[in-house]
Amino acid sequence: MGIIEKIIEELRRRGFRIRAVRDDSIKADLNRLRVKVWIAPNNYLPWWLNPLDMVEELELHDIDALFVVSERPYIISDYVLNNVSRVRYLFNKELNIKVYSINTNRLEEDLEDALNLALTNYYNKVKNVSLMGSPCPSCGSPMRLVYSSRYFSYRWRSWVNEYVEVCERCRVYIHRIELR
Ligand SMILES: [Zn+2]
Repeated sequence: MGIIEKIIEELRRRGFRIRAVRDDSIKADLNRLRVKVWIAPNNYLPWWLNPLDMVEELELHDIDALFVVSERPYIISDYVLNNVSRVRYLFNKELNIKVYSINTNRLEEDLEDALNLALTNYYNKVKNVSLMGSPCPSCGSPMRLVYSSRYFSYRWRSWVNEYVEVCERCRVYIHRIELR
């Protein structure tokens, strides 16, 4: 199975709806969260002299989170984030986007971790429940359980229940896994 097919399968297994597939990218939604997985080219940076071209080409105006898949994803994520800040101070354009790094050699595990982080950061967009959760580690009052789902975890080699819990007062956001 190719890398694109693997990623599509993984996104579907996490409940995402696939919006668009290209040779080097996939766009997908989960409730109101819009993500794009980008298989970055292996040749040398920089690819864009004008950061607006990057925004255009990566369609950053159209997504909340970008997942960079590469053998050196941190360098590329930094590069993308630098360009996003250049867009902010050169063109006064604010892009509310988070960038997550995924190493090609640990595709499944890194994608799983990145998705868990994105679900936690964007809990307001993926929220599928509102219940009383476990005690907040900071203030002790019950957190709000805002997202729960079940998937097969590569990291734990097992089916897991996942929970996102938040304490908005303390700004504590937690992704919790239960093996069962
Ligand atoms: Zn708290």
